[in-house]
Amino acid sequence: MKYLRFSYQDTVRYGLLQDTTIQVLDGTPFTKYTITDTNLDLNDVKILTPCDYSKAVCIGLNYRDHAEEFQLPIPTEPVVFLKPSTSALPYGGVVDYPIQCKRLDYEAELAIVIAKKAKNIEIDQVSEYILGYTCANDITARDLQPKQGQWTIAKSFDTFCPFGPFISDEVDPADLAIESRVNGKTMQKSSTKNLIFKVPFLVSYLSKVMTLLPGDIILTGTPGGISGMHHGDTVEIVIEGLGILKNTIG
Ligand code: MG
Repeated sequence: MKYLRFSYQDTVRYGLLQDTTIQVLDGTPFTKYTITDTNLDLNDVKILTPCDYSKAVCIGLNYRDHAEEFQLPIPTEPVVFLKPSTSALPYGGVVDYPIQCKRLDYEAELAIVIAKKAKNIEIDQVSEYILGYTCANDITARDLQPKQGQWTIAKSFDTFCPFGPFISDEVDPADLAIESRVNGKTMQKSSTKNLIFKVPFLVSYLSKVMTLLPGDIILTGTPGGISGMHHGDTVEIVIEGLGILKNTIG
């Protein structure tokens, strides 16, 4: 299934996306739902973030080449930070370029979407707790990010967590092509097979620290090839089977 959340005539609904047709749901993928008889065209709705998160848990330096471009050692434990719920931005939304920031970066990331409350989950149980996957862009005020220590300021401005456009449970996260493009030019190109810490490990590991709630997302890290963006740029995150997350820089 590809779960899309959208607004249409002032109501917010979930639907199942097939090509450009949306089968409207009664209910949500996080609870129970039924498929209604109503179909809508994708072009007639406004795409929203595919869920609301209480926290976006982010993994830093989780691709070897990205750690190397910072000349940082390959982590032996996950590097973890959070983005606040106020950083969420849907497909098509405009990323704020903060006045304090002199260099604003994209980071293409596979995001895991948690289906139900998860605490102390073992690796072999993890699949029951994952609703699916989506594209995310870990927008970063690079010049505000110290080389060591706390990353909160650099990662937490409003609009710094674009994600979507939909959640799919049809992909295997072990080997998905992942790419970022700025104004149509490919900037990052890798595969999730290059993740240092893999999806099942990360969900288990994090669930033993903090309770993961339905709709929480885990950004799994970005491959090498980061660089800055400018006012008016268009940035796209493209992940195999997960569509294209497109945003512009304000
Ligand atoms: Mg990142």
